[in-house]
Amino acid sequence: MMDWKRSEIAFALEVVEQACVIAETVRREMASSVMEKKDLSPVTVADFAIQAFIAKKLAEQFPDDPLVAEESSEALREKGGAEILKRIKPLLTPHFPKVFDEDIAAWIDRGQQSPSRRFWTLDPIDGTKGFIRGDQYAVALALLVNHEVEIGVLGCPHLGQPFFESSTGVLTIAVKGKGSAYRALKSHDTFVPMRVSSFASTEEAVLLRSYEASHTSSTKTSEWMNALKFTKPPVLMDSLAKYAVVANGKADLLVRFPSRTQPLRRECIWDQAAGALLVEEAGGKVTDLDGKAFDYSAGCRLERNRGVLVTNGHLHQQALNALGGVSL
Ligand code: AMP
Ligand code: MG
Repeated sequence: MMDWKRSEIAFALEVVEQACVIAETVRREMASSVMEKKDLSPVTVADFAIQAFIAKKLAEQFPDDPLVAEESSEALREKGGAEILKRIKPLLTPHFPKVFDEDIAAWIDRGQQSPSRRFWTLDPIDGTKGFIRGDQYAVALALLVNHEVEIGVLGCPHLGQPFFESSTGVLTIAVKGKGSAYRALKSHDTFVPMRVSSFASTEEAVLLRSYEASHTSSTKTSEWMNALKFTKPPVLMDSLAKYAVVANGKADLLVRFPSRTQPLRRECIWDQAAGALLVEEAGGKVTDLDGKAFDYSAGCRLERNRGVLVTNGHLHQQALNALGGVSL
Protein backbone atom coordinates (compact mmCIF):
# COMPACT_ATOMS: atom_id res chain seq x y z
CA MET A 1 0.00 0.00 0.00
CA MET A 2 1.20 3.49 -0.75
CA ASP A 3 2.13 5.15 2.50
CA TRP A 4 0.10 8.32 2.15
CA LYS A 5 -3.06 6.28 1.84
CA ARG A 6 -2.56 3.97 4.78
CA SER A 7 -4.47 5.98 7.37
CA GLU A 8 -7.19 6.88 4.82
CA ILE A 9 -7.71 3.20 4.02
CA ALA A 10 -7.91 2.25 7.70
CA PHE A 11 -10.33 5.12 8.31
CA ALA A 12 -12.60 4.23 5.40
CA LEU A 13 -12.77 0.54 6.32
CA GLU A 14 -13.46 1.28 9.97
CA VAL A 15 -16.21 3.84 9.48
CA VAL A 16 -17.97 1.87 6.75
CA GLU A 17 -17.94 -1.29 8.86
CA GLN A 18 -19.36 0.62 11.83
CA ALA A 19 -21.91 2.26 9.55
CA CYS A 20 -23.07 -1.20 8.49
CA VAL A 21 -23.68 -2.05 12.15
CA ILE A 22 -25.73 1.14 12.53
CA ALA A 23 -27.73 0.28 9.40
CA GLU A 24 -28.51 -3.24 10.53
CA THR A 25 -29.44 -2.04 14.02
CA VAL A 26 -31.95 0.35 12.50
CA ARG A 27 -33.30 -2.33 10.19
CA ARG A 28 -33.87 -4.73 13.04
CA GLU A 29 -35.38 -2.24 15.43
CA MET A 30 -37.47 -0.02 13.21
CA ALA A 31 -37.79 -1.32 9.71
CA SER A 32 -41.03 0.57 9.24
CA SER A 33 -39.74 4.03 10.11
CA VAL A 34 -39.58 5.68 6.75
CA MET A 35 -40.18 9.21 5.67
CA GLU A 36 -40.38 10.62 2.22
CA LYS A 37 -37.71 12.87 0.76
CA LYS A 38 -38.76 15.63 -1.58
CA ASP A 39 -37.80 13.50 -4.57
CA LEU A 40 -40.01 10.75 -3.14
CA SER A 41 -37.26 8.23 -2.55
CA PRO A 42 -37.53 6.86 0.97
CA VAL A 43 -35.10 8.14 3.52
CA THR A 44 -34.55 6.34 6.74
CA VAL A 45 -33.11 7.04 10.11
CA ALA A 46 -30.13 4.97 9.03
CA ASP A 47 -29.37 7.36 6.17
CA PHE A 48 -29.15 10.33 8.50
CA ALA A 49 -27.41 8.49 11.34
CA ILE A 50 -24.70 7.12 9.04
CA GLN A 51 -24.06 10.44 7.35
CA ALA A 52 -23.83 12.17 10.73
CA PHE A 53 -21.53 9.42 12.03
CA ILE A 54 -19.11 9.39 9.10
CA ALA A 55 -19.10 13.18 8.72
CA LYS A 56 -18.19 13.62 12.38
CA LYS A 57 -15.49 10.94 12.26
CA LEU A 58 -14.06 12.56 9.15
CA ALA A 59 -14.05 15.97 10.83
CA GLU A 60 -12.05 14.43 13.68
CA GLN A 61 -9.55 12.52 11.60
CA PHE A 62 -9.19 14.55 8.40
CA PRO A 63 -10.57 17.99 9.31
CA ASP A 64 -9.48 19.61 6.07
CA ASP A 65 -11.19 17.07 3.82
CA PRO A 66 -14.61 18.10 2.46
CA LEU A 67 -17.43 15.57 2.40
CA VAL A 68 -19.85 15.42 -0.53
CA ALA A 69 -22.74 13.25 0.54
CA GLU A 70 -26.31 12.50 -0.37
CA GLU A 71 -28.34 13.77 2.57
CA SER A 72 -29.06 17.19 4.04
CA SER A 73 -30.64 18.00 7.38
CA GLU A 74 -33.46 19.90 5.66
CA ALA A 75 -35.76 16.86 5.78
CA LEU A 76 -34.96 16.51 9.46
CA ARG A 77 -36.12 20.03 10.18
CA GLU A 78 -39.44 19.39 8.51
CA LYS A 79 -42.38 17.70 10.17
CA GLY A 80 -41.39 14.44 11.82
CA GLY A 81 -37.76 15.47 12.16
CA ALA A 82 -37.86 15.54 15.94
CA GLU A 83 -38.95 11.90 16.00
CA ILE A 84 -36.15 10.93 13.62
CA LEU A 85 -33.59 12.83 15.73
CA LYS A 86 -34.75 10.98 18.80
CA ARG A 87 -34.03 7.71 16.99
CA ILE A 88 -30.66 8.83 15.67
CA LYS A 89 -29.21 9.92 18.99
CA PRO A 90 -28.85 6.48 20.65
CA LEU A 91 -27.16 5.22 17.49
CA LEU A 92 -24.47 7.89 17.79
CA THR A 93 -23.90 8.02 21.56
CA PRO A 94 -21.78 4.82 21.64
CA HIS A 95 -19.34 6.56 19.28
CA PHE A 96 -19.12 10.08 20.72
CA PRO A 97 -18.98 11.37 24.31
CA LYS A 98 -21.84 13.88 23.97
CA VAL A 99 -24.42 14.23 21.23
CA PHE A 100 -26.84 17.17 21.01
CA ASP A 101 -29.65 17.59 18.47
CA GLU A 102 -27.94 20.64 16.94
CA ASP A 103 -24.75 18.62 16.52
CA ILE A 104 -26.53 15.95 14.53
CA ALA A 105 -27.95 18.43 12.02
CA ALA A 106 -24.58 20.17 11.74
CA TRP A 107 -22.74 16.88 11.21
CA ILE A 108 -25.20 15.83 8.50
CA ASP A 109 -24.74 19.17 6.78
CA ARG A 110 -20.99 18.78 6.86
CA GLY A 111 -21.76 16.38 4.03
CA GLN A 112 -23.08 19.25 1.92
CA GLN A 113 -19.63 20.54 0.97
CA SER A 114 -18.42 20.93 -2.59
CA PRO A 115 -15.96 18.76 -4.47
CA SER A 116 -12.41 20.11 -4.36
CA ARG A 117 -8.90 18.88 -5.14
CA ARG A 118 -9.18 16.24 -2.45
CA PHE A 119 -12.54 15.19 -0.98
CA TRP A 120 -14.64 12.24 0.15
CA THR A 121 -18.00 11.25 -1.25
CA LEU A 122 -20.57 9.22 0.65
CA ASP A 123 -23.86 7.52 0.02
CA PRO A 124 -24.88 6.52 3.53
CA ILE A 125 -27.45 4.01 2.27
CA ASP A 126 -27.35 3.31 -1.45
CA GLY A 127 -30.43 1.34 -2.43
CA THR A 128 -32.83 2.67 0.19
CA LYS A 129 -35.65 0.69 -1.38
CA GLY A 130 -33.62 -2.52 -1.08
CA PHE A 131 -32.79 -1.60 2.51
CA ILE A 132 -36.47 -1.23 3.37
CA ARG A 133 -37.42 -4.40 1.50
CA GLY A 134 -34.71 -6.38 3.31
CA ASP A 135 -32.74 -6.89 0.11
CA GLN A 136 -29.39 -5.51 -1.02
CA TYR A 137 -28.06 -2.09 -0.09
CA ALA A 138 -24.60 -0.58 0.35
CA VAL A 139 -22.76 2.00 2.41
CA ALA A 140 -20.48 3.66 -0.14
CA LEU A 141 -17.47 5.87 0.65
CA ALA A 142 -14.78 7.05 -1.73
CA LEU A 143 -11.78 9.37 -1.61
CA LEU A 144 -11.14 11.44 -4.74
CA VAL A 145 -7.93 13.32 -5.43
CA ASN A 146 -7.42 15.41 -8.57
CA HIS A 147 -10.71 14.09 -10.03
CA GLU A 148 -9.64 10.44 -9.70
CA VAL A 149 -11.03 7.88 -7.30
CA GLU A 150 -8.14 6.79 -5.08
CA ILE A 151 -10.00 4.65 -2.53
CA GLY A 152 -13.44 3.06 -2.71
CA VAL A 153 -15.08 1.14 0.11
CA LEU A 154 -18.46 -0.57 -0.01
CA GLY A 155 -20.14 -2.23 2.92
CA CYS A 156 -22.88 -4.64 1.84
CA PRO A 157 -24.46 -6.25 4.91
CA HIS A 158 -26.74 -8.56 2.92
CA LEU A 159 -24.33 -9.74 0.29
CA GLY A 160 -23.22 -13.36 0.55
CA GLN A 161 -23.75 -16.70 -1.17
CA PRO A 162 -23.69 -17.41 -4.05
CA PHE A 163 -21.71 -14.26 -4.79
CA PHE A 164 -19.32 -14.17 -1.82
CA GLU A 165 -18.03 -16.54 0.85
CA SER A 166 -19.75 -14.90 3.78
CA SER A 167 -22.83 -15.25 5.92
CA THR A 168 -22.44 -11.81 7.56
CA GLY A 169 -22.28 -9.52 4.53
CA VAL A 170 -19.12 -8.16 2.95
CA LEU A 171 -16.73 -5.25 3.33
CA THR A 172 -15.02 -4.48 0.03
CA ILE A 173 -12.19 -2.12 -0.82
CA ALA A 174 -10.40 -0.89 -3.90
CA VAL A 175 -7.23 1.19 -3.89
CA LYS A 176 -6.12 2.77 -7.15
CA GLY A 177 -3.30 0.76 -8.65
CA LYS A 178 -3.44 -1.83 -5.87
CA GLY A 179 -6.49 -3.98 -6.66
CA SER A 180 -9.79 -4.86 -5.02
CA ALA A 181 -10.49 -7.17 -2.12
CA TYR A 182 -13.18 -8.22 0.33
CA ARG A 183 -13.69 -9.88 3.67
CA ALA A 184 -16.74 -10.88 5.66
CA LEU A 185 -18.23 -8.10 7.77
CA LYS A 186 -17.89 -8.62 11.52
CA SER A 187 -14.86 -10.87 11.01
CA HIS A 188 -11.13 -10.57 11.44
CA ASP A 189 -10.56 -12.50 8.23
CA THR A 190 -7.84 -11.32 5.91
CA PHE A 191 -8.95 -9.60 2.72
CA VAL A 192 -9.37 -11.85 -0.32
CA PRO A 193 -8.50 -10.33 -3.73
CA MET A 194 -11.37 -9.93 -6.19
CA ARG A 195 -11.13 -10.54 -9.91
CA VAL A 196 -13.71 -10.09 -12.64
CA SER A 197 -14.86 -13.07 -14.73
CA SER A 198 -13.18 -14.00 -18.00
CA PHE A 199 -16.34 -14.62 -20.02
CA ALA A 200 -16.16 -13.05 -23.45
CA SER A 201 -19.45 -14.32 -24.80
CA THR A 202 -22.96 -13.23 -23.91
CA GLU A 203 -23.98 -16.91 -24.00
CA GLU A 204 -22.18 -17.38 -20.72
CA ALA A 205 -22.68 -13.91 -19.31
CA VAL A 206 -24.95 -12.92 -16.44
CA LEU A 207 -26.42 -9.42 -16.45
CA LEU A 208 -27.32 -7.60 -13.24
CA ARG A 209 -30.35 -5.31 -13.37
CA SER A 210 -31.82 -2.81 -10.94
CA TYR A 211 -34.60 -4.30 -8.91
CA GLU A 212 -36.53 -1.04 -9.21
CA ALA A 213 -37.83 -0.71 -12.76
CA SER A 214 -38.35 3.04 -12.30
CA HIS A 215 -34.60 3.67 -11.87
CA THR A 216 -33.83 2.91 -15.47
CA SER A 217 -35.56 2.42 -18.81
CA SER A 218 -36.98 -1.10 -19.01
CA THR A 219 -37.72 -0.67 -22.71
CA LYS A 220 -34.17 0.33 -23.60
CA THR A 221 -32.68 -2.32 -21.35
CA SER A 222 -34.82 -4.96 -23.08
CA GLU A 223 -33.89 -3.71 -26.57
CA TRP A 224 -30.22 -3.84 -25.64
CA MET A 225 -30.55 -7.30 -24.08
CA ASN A 226 -32.25 -8.60 -27.19
CA ALA A 227 -29.41 -7.26 -29.32
CA LEU A 228 -26.86 -9.05 -27.17
CA LYS A 229 -28.76 -12.37 -27.12
CA PHE A 230 -28.15 -13.33 -23.53
CA THR A 231 -29.07 -16.93 -22.80
CA LYS A 232 -29.02 -16.70 -19.00
CA PRO A 233 -31.73 -14.77 -17.19
CA PRO A 234 -30.72 -11.43 -15.64
CA VAL A 235 -30.33 -11.11 -11.88
CA LEU A 236 -32.28 -8.31 -10.21
CA MET A 237 -30.36 -6.55 -7.47
CA ASP A 238 -30.48 -3.20 -5.69
CA SER A 239 -27.65 -0.75 -5.18
CA LEU A 240 -23.88 -0.71 -5.66
CA ALA A 241 -23.85 -4.29 -4.40
CA LYS A 242 -24.10 -5.06 -8.14
CA TYR A 243 -20.63 -3.57 -8.70
CA ALA A 244 -19.16 -5.74 -5.95
CA VAL A 245 -20.67 -8.84 -7.58
CA VAL A 246 -19.16 -7.95 -10.98
CA ALA A 247 -15.80 -7.20 -9.30
CA ASN A 248 -15.90 -10.63 -7.68
CA GLY A 249 -16.54 -12.33 -11.02
CA LYS A 250 -19.98 -13.66 -10.09
CA ALA A 251 -21.80 -11.63 -12.72
CA ASP A 252 -20.44 -10.06 -15.84
CA LEU A 253 -22.08 -6.79 -16.66
CA LEU A 254 -24.63 -4.18 -15.71
CA VAL A 255 -26.15 -1.23 -17.50
CA ARG A 256 -27.98 1.91 -16.39
CA PHE A 257 -30.04 3.78 -18.93
CA PRO A 258 -31.54 7.04 -17.68
CA SER A 259 -35.16 6.34 -16.76
CA ARG A 260 -38.01 7.13 -19.14
CA THR A 261 -39.35 9.78 -16.78
CA GLN A 262 -35.95 11.44 -16.22
CA PRO A 263 -34.06 11.05 -19.50
CA LEU A 264 -31.68 13.89 -18.65
CA ARG A 265 -30.82 12.63 -15.17
CA ARG A 266 -27.09 12.47 -14.54
CA GLU A 267 -25.57 10.03 -12.07
CA CYS A 268 -24.46 11.31 -8.65
CA ILE A 269 -20.78 10.78 -7.90
CA TRP A 270 -21.53 9.04 -4.58
CA ASP A 271 -23.59 6.49 -6.52
CA GLN A 272 -20.65 5.54 -8.73
CA ALA A 273 -17.17 6.37 -7.40
CA ALA A 274 -16.59 3.53 -4.91
CA GLY A 275 -18.28 0.88 -7.06
CA ALA A 276 -16.51 1.96 -10.24
CA LEU A 277 -13.04 1.71 -8.68
CA LEU A 278 -13.95 -1.69 -7.23
CA VAL A 279 -14.71 -3.04 -10.71
CA GLU A 280 -11.75 -1.35 -12.42
CA GLU A 281 -9.25 -2.54 -9.86
CA ALA A 282 -10.65 -6.07 -10.21
CA GLY A 283 -9.82 -5.90 -13.93
CA GLY A 284 -13.17 -4.73 -15.29
CA LYS A 285 -14.25 -1.67 -17.23
CA VAL A 286 -16.62 1.18 -16.39
CA THR A 287 -17.78 3.82 -18.86
CA ASP A 288 -20.88 5.76 -19.74
CA LEU A 289 -23.16 4.68 -22.60
CA ASP A 290 -20.94 6.53 -25.10
CA GLY A 291 -17.93 4.52 -23.99
CA LYS A 292 -16.46 7.56 -22.21
CA ALA A 293 -14.66 7.30 -18.87
CA PHE A 294 -16.39 8.99 -15.94
CA ASP A 295 -15.39 12.62 -15.61
CA TYR A 296 -15.35 13.44 -11.91
CA SER A 297 -14.47 17.09 -12.48
CA ALA A 298 -18.04 18.19 -13.17
CA GLY A 299 -19.32 18.60 -9.61
CA CYS A 300 -21.65 16.42 -7.58
CA ARG A 301 -23.04 14.70 -10.65
CA LEU A 302 -21.40 13.16 -13.68
CA GLU A 303 -22.73 16.00 -15.84
CA ARG A 304 -20.54 15.04 -18.79
CA ASN A 305 -21.56 11.37 -18.86
CA ARG A 306 -24.80 9.63 -19.84
CA GLY A 307 -25.76 6.40 -18.14
CA VAL A 308 -23.46 3.62 -16.98
CA LEU A 309 -21.95 0.47 -18.47
CA VAL A 310 -19.99 -1.85 -16.20
CA THR A 311 -18.46 -5.05 -17.52
CA ASN A 312 -15.70 -7.55 -16.91
CA GLY A 313 -13.81 -5.78 -19.70
CA HIS A 314 -14.03 -8.67 -22.16
CA LEU A 315 -17.68 -7.90 -22.91
CA HIS A 316 -17.37 -4.14 -22.99
CA GLN A 317 -17.00 -3.47 -26.70
CA GLN A 318 -19.80 -5.86 -27.63
CA ALA A 319 -22.01 -4.27 -25.02
CA LEU A 320 -21.25 -0.80 -26.38
CA ASN A 321 -21.77 -1.90 -29.97
CA ALA A 322 -25.18 -3.30 -29.06
CA LEU A 323 -26.20 0.18 -27.91
CA GLY A 324 -26.06 1.24 -31.55
CA GLY A 325 -29.50 -0.12 -32.18
CA VAL A 326 -31.02 1.36 -29.03
CA SER A 327 -32.54 4.81 -29.28
CA LEU A 328 -30.54 6.63 -26.63
P1 AMP B 1 -30.42 0.69 -8.11
O1 AMP B 1 -28.94 0.67 -8.41
O2 AMP B 1 -31.24 0.94 -9.31
O3 AMP B 1 -30.83 -0.46 -7.28
O4 AMP B 1 -30.82 1.89 -7.20
C1 AMP B 1 -30.04 2.68 -6.46
C2 AMP B 1 -29.81 3.96 -7.16
O5 AMP B 1 -30.95 4.45 -7.83
C3 AMP B 1 -29.44 5.05 -6.21
O6 AMP B 1 -28.10 5.31 -6.38
C4 AMP B 1 -30.31 6.24 -6.57
O7 AMP B 1 -29.53 7.40 -6.72
C5 AMP B 1 -30.91 5.84 -7.87
N1 AMP B 1 -32.26 6.35 -8.07
C6 AMP B 1 -33.19 6.62 -7.16
N2 AMP B 1 -34.31 7.09 -7.76
C7 AMP B 1 -34.05 7.10 -9.09
C8 AMP B 1 -34.80 7.47 -10.25
N3 AMP B 1 -36.03 7.90 -10.16
N4 AMP B 1 -34.20 7.35 -11.45
C9 AMP B 1 -32.96 6.88 -11.55
N5 AMP B 1 -32.21 6.51 -10.50
C10 AMP B 1 -32.75 6.62 -9.29
MG1 MG C 1 -27.60 6.08 -4.01
